[in-house]
Amino acid sequence: MSKRTKKVGITGWMGPRYGIRIRRRTQEVERGRIATYSCPKCSTVSVRRIGSGLWRCSRCERTFASDAYAFRPAPSIFRVEEESALPSSASATGGKGKVKGAASP
Ligand SMILES: [Zn+2]
Repeated sequence: MSKRTKKVGITGWMGPRYGIRIRRRTQEVERGRIATYSCPKCSTVSVRRIGSGLWRCSRCERTFASDAYAFRPAPSIFRVEEESALPSSASATGGKGKVKGAASP
């Protein structure tokens, strides 16, 4: 099937109006809004926009807060996982600080 809007894509509804720069910027933003992103939790490409700044993974059904028109997973998602993983491993070895102190002298 031939593509109807080769150049303008999603901004086809704008027609010849508003100027090329605005149409291009709109196209850029809309592309990010429509796109499917990889999930930071289950790493499948299934995160889609459900509302302004709301993104949901259709596989694990987790909802994320991110940018209004683009999904950029906050680094805190990963930081929380690391922090929750550290104390359990540290307590298994008797605490992170104690290990360091015992190893230095
Ligand atoms: Zn997921």
